[in-house]
Amino acid sequence: MAEQKEEALKPASKSLNFIEQRIEADLAAGKNGGRLQTRFPPEPNGYLHIGHAKAICMDFGVAAAYGGTCNLRFDDTNPTKEDVEYMNAIEEDIQWLGFQWDNLYYASDYFQQLWDFAVQLIKEGKAYVDEQTAAQIAEQKGTPTKAGQNSPYRDRPIEESLALFEKMNTGEVAEGAMVLRAKIDMASSNMHFRDPIIYRVVNHAHPRTGTKWKAYPMYDFAHGQSDYFEGVTHSLCTLEFVPHRPLYDLFVDWVKEGQDLDDNRPRQYEFNKLNLNYVLLSKRNLLVMVEEGLVDGWDDPRMPTLCGFRRRGYSPEGIRKFVDKIGYTTFDALNDFALLESAVREDLNERATRVSAVLHPVKLVVTNYPEGQVEEVEVVNNPERPEEGTHKIEFSRELWIEESDFMEDAPKKYFRLTPGGEVRLKGAYIVKCTGCKKDADGNLLEVYCEYDPESRSGLPGANRKVKGTIHWLSCAHCIPAEVRLYDRLWKHENPRDELARIREEKNCDALTAMKEMISPNSLEVLQNCYVEKFLTEITDQKYLQFQRTGYFTFDTHSTPEKLIFNRTVSLKDSFKK
Ligand code: ATP
Ligand code: MG
Repeated sequence: MAEQKEEALKPASKSLNFIEQRIEADLAAGKNGGRLQTRFPPEPNGYLHIGHAKAICMDFGVAAAYGGTCNLRFDDTNPTKEDVEYMNAIEEDIQWLGFQWDNLYYASDYFQQLWDFAVQLIKEGKAYVDEQTAAQIAEQKGTPTKAGQNSPYRDRPIEESLALFEKMNTGEVAEGAMVLRAKIDMASSNMHFRDPIIYRVVNHAHPRTGTKWKAYPMYDFAHGQSDYFEGVTHSLCTLEFVPHRPLYDLFVDWVKEGQDLDDNRPRQYEFNKLNLNYVLLSKRNLLVMVEEGLVDGWDDPRMPTLCGFRRRGYSPEGIRKFVDKIGYTTFDALNDFALLESAVREDLNERATRVSAVLHPVKLVVTNYPEGQVEEVEVVNNPERPEEGTHKIEFSRELWIEESDFMEDAPKKYFRLTPGGEVRLKGAYIVKCTGCKKDADGNLLEVYCEYDPESRSGLPGANRKVKGTIHWLSCAHCIPAEVRLYDRLWKHENPRDELARIREEKNCDALTAMKEMISPNSLEVLQNCYVEKFLTEITDQKYLQFQRTGYFTFDTHSTPEKLIFNRTVSLKDSFKK
């Protein structure tokens, strides 16, 4: 047993994060019989975002590294907010990220066990039904420095609480009319110990249990016990749960009392949440953006959801690489979005098929190239993976080039096309610019050049060097396309704090604050772009590099008749402040 564990340990070359160190120590100490079992416990109230990717990589990652198991458990204790659509999407996104759970569980699987445990607590005098309003209960809570007051119902007879608790589950009790509270300590320095609410009435059908239950366990009462029932050994979560840990441990103590003499208990360890600059996370916020139409659905490529990043053209490997780079700590930070982009760029460089596209086209006429003549130019599909071969594009007299690759009055260091100057047309000839044509308003119509027939790439004359190389497409051989460019969705570096600040200052709802914070320039749609014909043959290819421009992908709405591309990320960091 011990030997097997040794083998499964991570390679020594990679330093362990603090969670891995604690897990190794627990395993070495033989805690939980040397077992490792984790879980990823999303509430199915929205789609997963990049923050969840950090938790997923941790939960599934340590299980894989130490030969343990990781289960997916839907934390479905709040039927008003939860939906099967979200469950399905969560499963799809975890798998897309590259992970597979050992078992699929639901907190609702334990509703009966949790109910029975609550009844036992009432019988033991450790829980009571409180008939006060939420406001009254909040008022008696006290502050961290001032003890709370006992509820007038705190010492009601056990039989009374038992009968009322039954009623909470029959539909006879209105939502909010009564709750079940654990009887702990209204003077505790830990606010979570001040007789926490453990059951409430929710008159809403549950996606899995229908109308069977009307009384639902609160998060703090469901989570630790679900971990315990399942045999979770390490309950990994984010830092905001640190103050909940003593309550988590207390409930586990209570539930295992007299049943489990060994120390087979789940241990909660916390790490920092992912927080990215210019990005707003939290499903609650994302739901508002989707429902109010601030974005085009959960998978809008500007969304920080995993399905949004997928549609934008991010690779799961790129996201995992990013999570690996930022690591896990015990303090909150604001990570730079540029770090995510650079990880994705690094990964796409290995994967992307190289093609040419002209996003802001202007016509370049090679005046001394024979009319009607066509030559083929070979393009390496992926220089990082020569085994992926080559494809061909056509060269002819009339080409599309980027508007920005021509300048009539160019500064000294401009190495692209300017009258009298030379550039290489990538993979083809060196051309000398001879001038341009403009309309009466001064708008550029065409650019003219002459080519040097001896300079074709691969020919001996090609050795002649010029400073600039530009890409191009043959007008007669390319196809039109729409290209969508994305930028940050929020104007503020820390939208989470800004949202809170505006809401506080104006006493307004999230939508009102968001409308103030949203950037008007997050989407630019270019309708008149051109791309290689080759793209119609590789529509199943996920990752593309438009040479000299950036990484792109086919949008989910792209069809062979109307190609639509999303820019994943530019070639260089353009996300600077
Ligand atoms: P949200 O506020 O987005 O709904 P949550 O914390 O309520 O997030 P859950 O679906 O309840 O999310 O939690 C699933 C797991 O994902 C939890 O363990 C939670 O700690 C983790 N998680 C959520 N957001 C982040 C984040 N930004 N960084 C790291 N882990 C996160
Ligand atoms: Mg939540």
